[in-house]
Amino acid sequence: MSEKQISYQKCINPDCGAEFDNGQTLFKCPKCDELLDARYDWNKIEVPSKLSDFAKRWATRNNRLDFSGVWRFRELLNFCDDKYKVSIGEGQTILQKNDSVAKYVNMKPGCLFLEYEGLNPSGSFKDNGMTAAFSHAVMVGATSCACASTGNTSAAVALYAQSCGLKCTVFIGSGRIAFGKLSQAMDYGAQTIQIRGDFDDCMRQVQNVCIELGLYLLNSLNPFRLEGQKTIMYRIMEALGWEVPDWIVVPGGNLGNSSAFGKAFSELKELGLINKIPRLAIINATGADTLTDLVNNKKLTWNNGNVDQKIIDDFYADLTARNFSPHTCASAIEISRPVNLKKCLRAIEVCKGVVRAVTDEEILDAKALIGKHGLGCEPASAATIAGLKHLREEGIIGDSERVACVLTGHVLKDPDKTVNYHKNNDGIFSNPPIEAPNDLDAIIKLIK
Ligand SMILES: [Zn+2]
Repeated sequence: MSEKQISYQKCINPDCGAEFDNGQTLFKCPKCDELLDARYDWNKIEVPSKLSDFAKRWATRNNRLDFSGVWRFRELLNFCDDKYKVSIGEGQTILQKNDSVAKYVNMKPGCLFLEYEGLNPSGSFKDNGMTAAFSHAVMVGATSCACASTGNTSAAVALYAQSCGLKCTVFIGSGRIAFGKLSQAMDYGAQTIQIRGDFDDCMRQVQNVCIELGLYLLNSLNPFRLEGQKTIMYRIMEALGWEVPDWIVVPGGNLGNSSAFGKAFSELKELGLINKIPRLAIINATGADTLTDLVNNKKLTWNNGNVDQKIIDDFYADLTARNFSPHTCASAIEISRPVNLKKCLRAIEVCKGVVRAVTDEEILDAKALIGKHGLGCEPASAATIAGLKHLREEGIIGDSERVACVLTGHVLKDPDKTVNYHKNNDGIFSNPPIEAPNDLDAIIKLIK
């Protein structure tokens, strides 16, 4: 890149630091294979002098970009012209104060908030990232796109692809199909290719196909997706009257959200728009706890960008040697090789983050509790409350600190888990249906 522009891509490896024009579709540094960031020259961007200025756009919601809960904050993710920006009205989410769930984790009333990202058009937080990534795809002139996923990503990709007229192909591994989650992609008109192999085979093939046919790849490495995901934090602060909470709690899977949140707060601090950075708690499932093991046991840190690669290599070599496959009921975080690991380590440093792992039983109980007292969520989202319970018991999080938990996906994303939990009556909040004879008196006796 010869001349520095308003926005550009930059390698996160401090020993490399290569910079690239946003017009390039890269996803990994071509020089050193590390992750790329979207970066900005803030001197050339007119950012509002205070965060509350963004709220003025509520008055001009007939402008599609002001209506979007992502593009309302467009100066903070200013990587493309407005004419390229794609929106389907994402980010109309709710931050709900929830005293009943607060009681479960032994917190004082008024302190616990649930950020309902399941209210996005495709039912998950992914829409925040896709509106940004698809804007980049339109800017670079992509006409076709692809992703490998059996979950929320495929639904969001398919929805945005049809909304901006891109052809879309979703790759899935045969025998690994979650048709419940894929149903959205099929309904939105995406072509679905079933590859005889597992998800890793699938991911490898989709990358090759994208290179061969020039398709735009919507995988988690896309730095522009993470730019959109920063806005989840802006909306939480907006709902709190532009105050910064004490803690953000988020599920840990591919670690895109935690990476984006750390970047969001670090930029806001640099811009002088906030005076403190909240702490971050990232919650793994015990069956997919790479981050927990690396951070808490192997003491892996960001270390100013000089991450100890040997610790990571040895860890993954051990997973391979054991033929390890992650397993949890929270399929959205069933990942043992998170692609955004290093960016997440950076976020942990910026936000003085902590990492914990919770069992499937704890996740499912927390999920039922959230459903009973809130808008409901998919299993991965409930890892936040299960993790918060641990952190409260350990005394890491105080009972009157202000905590926002990010509920990433809608309760209807994974109905099988909900049905089984209640029907099998095997959890502390199970609420099974009661069988009754076809007799009025008998039925009346059953009504509580
Ligand atoms: Zn590099």
